[in-house]
Amino acid sequence: MAGITWHYVLKFIITGDAAVGKSSLLVRLTDQRFLANPDPTLGVEFGSKLIEIPEEGKIVKLQCWDTAGTESFRSITRSYYRGAAGCLLVYDVTSRASFTNARSWLADVREHADPHLTCILVGNKVDLCDESAEGALVHKRREVATEEAEQWAKEEGLLFVEASAKSGRNVDLAFEEASRNILDKIRRGV
Ligand code: GDP
Repeated sequence: MAGITWHYVLKFIITGDAAVGKSSLLVRLTDQRFLANPDPTLGVEFGSKLIEIPEEGKIVKLQCWDTAGTESFRSITRSYYRGAAGCLLVYDVTSRASFTNARSWLADVREHADPHLTCILVGNKVDLCDESAEGALVHKRREVATEEAEQWAKEEGLLFVEASAKSGRNVDLAFEEASRNILDKIRRGV
């Protein structure tokens, strides 16, 4: 969509435990690539992409910030949250701990971010437990059932999707769903 102007610029933050795939989701969104062995010290921190929300007839410029390198400190600065309209709260469907910890990441977001922020819970790495991966070297057991995550998301008022940065499944969709929700709030004056 080069040369196209946009109607809105939306800032997104991507949060969750280390190694759940935050940088990979960002690289997949902006670059349509997947790196099997990304260098953790070179975590992608920022990515930008234009997306279209046809129902609203709008072009949105996403500006996404990854929490690369900050997980261990848990002292994310206010500037990181400032102005964010959307948040991807990421866990790994093969890691129970990452799902449990999503609660405290959400608490952080609620403490620091705008109360109207739209948050989408993203269960990443579904490729690892796809039926088709049965027998494959990388096959891992799912530790978080779809229904359980869906239920928790509902209770917390979060959108929800399962995705894979590796295959690309539902990655664009996650950002589109969240953007659609944000534009809807803007239109309703929320
Ligand atoms: P971050 O620390 O949350 O930013 O996680 P990274 O994006 O650095 O990913 C951590 C590891 O998980 C890397 O080895 C990635 O290649 C791998 N990874 C990330 N997303 C996926 C995915 O969807 N499927 C699989 N199989 N591996 C993934």
